[in-house]
Amino acid sequence: MANPAAAAAPEQSAKAKKYPYYIEKPLEEGRVKQFLDIFAAILRHSNYKPLLDIYSRVVTRCARCAGGCQIYQATGDPEDIPCYRSNLLLGVYRRHFTLGGWLRGRILGDPGLQESTIDEMLDAFYHCTGCRRCNLECPMGLDHGLVMRLARNILSEMGIVPKALLVSVREQLQGKTANTSAIPAPAMMDTCEFLEEELADLTGQKIHFPIDREDVEYVFFPAVSDYLLEPDTLMGNAAVLYAAGDQDNWTIGTKYFDGINYGLFYNDAILGRIVEKEIAEVRRLRGKKILIGECGHASRSAKAFVPTFNGGEAIPVVSIQEYTFNALEQGKITLDPNAVTETVTYHDPCNLARSGWIVEQPRKILKSFVKNFVEMEPHGAENYCCGGGGGTVSLDEVHDYRMKVVGKIKAEQMRATGAEIIVAPCANCKKQLKELVDYYKIPATVVGLHDLILRAIRFPEKNGAATSEETYEAGEIKENSPVSV
Ligand code: SF4
Ligand code: SF4
Repeated sequence: MANPAAAAAPEQSAKAKKYPYYIEKPLEEGRVKQFLDIFAAILRHSNYKPLLDIYSRVVTRCARCAGGCQIYQATGDPEDIPCYRSNLLLGVYRRHFTLGGWLRGRILGDPGLQESTIDEMLDAFYHCTGCRRCNLECPMGLDHGLVMRLARNILSEMGIVPKALLVSVREQLQGKTANTSAIPAPAMMDTCEFLEEELADLTGQKIHFPIDREDVEYVFFPAVSDYLLEPDTLMGNAAVLYAAGDQDNWTIGTKYFDGINYGLFYNDAILGRIVEKEIAEVRRLRGKKILIGECGHASRSAKAFVPTFNGGEAIPVVSIQEYTFNALEQGKITLDPNAVTETVTYHDPCNLARSGWIVEQPRKILKSFVKNFVEMEPHGAENYCCGGGGGTVSLDEVHDYRMKVVGKIKAEQMRATGAEIIVAPCANCKKQLKELVDYYKIPATVVGLHDLILRAIRFPEKNGAATSEETYEAGEIKENSPVSV
């Protein structure tokens, strides 16, 4: 298969195995045995087996899944058909973990898993973004995103995981800062103070980012990278909480304040350990709910897995978009219907829409204050992935692949809307879409949902309301930020 990412792959010595992304300690020997041993152990200690029994029978029957995958649509390469990719793993399952496969080995001499298949998996399972769009097409309900995760899980237990993902998770789980961006708690608090000052200038209101407050309703976990890259989003979040009357009812914990969970992308055990950290911080502060900031995979990993790892009664998980939607529906916040006159479109993060529960809420919010709202086609649960899903947006070494192949359809979608502003309520999607807009020279700005809300939100007169003339342009605050860690 032609590999468009090959040019960007890290240099390897002639004798070394070729890995398509940076690996901390590339494995050179004994990969087949390790792969099979780890696969066997995972099957013993999980409930994947009944699912794989079914999947390994139905895969590669009709190839309808091809129509759903934006990678196949971009390349037309049969090896990019989802079921072909999944069959790399399911074929190993069939041959090594079923009676039929055992007989095949004994009678036909099928040697089973080979090094070359592992080489193929290294590429294939990090090309797939786990967007699960192919699932919409499969009449048998085969979840290729899940197969991709299992394959990555096995590889990661062998030490084969992109360095960018490994290093950030290590800092989150074992490092001093306990977050993926390695931001020390004092730097996070400095940033919050700075944002409070900005908000006072912009709105005339005393809007706070409460730190380590106990017995509150919401403990807040944004994608921690927002403190470095998306201050507008954070200010919008705080402004809504303030306007809705919850100024004293939310907090950011200093022991753990990162919503990112890369475990969702490559390792179930790590996924669980990160979720447990969120739960522990909420318990420490005796909070009642987990409030996740604008981030697709952070929302999905908490919503889907807090009940699994909570023990006892699960702490409810709320996305900031849900929160804002409810506040608007209940009349707790006021958004100026004339605030935004540019043409605006909305990108559905896969983990919020197709694999989540948030499709209509942000649209209703946007339509209440955006005069010219246009949809991408398709959109909602059928929307295309930004092209950087599954953690691949963090891998600079596959930048060309993300632009030229996986993100190609997304770029065409964005351009076709003619929108001047593209709203993407997810830290990962925003990064990928900004790179796409730049790469394809699309005349649009990519912002978070709450960045725009900050332009539209109005406060009661008695508190010294911001007037329309004082409205804030998203993206204005970029200089003098104290965040430098
Ligand atoms: S659409 Fe489903 S049944 Fe058809 S080949 Fe793909 S995975 Fe198999
Ligand atoms: S999950 Fe997304 S990227 Fe992966 S095979 Fe399916 S459609 Fe393609």
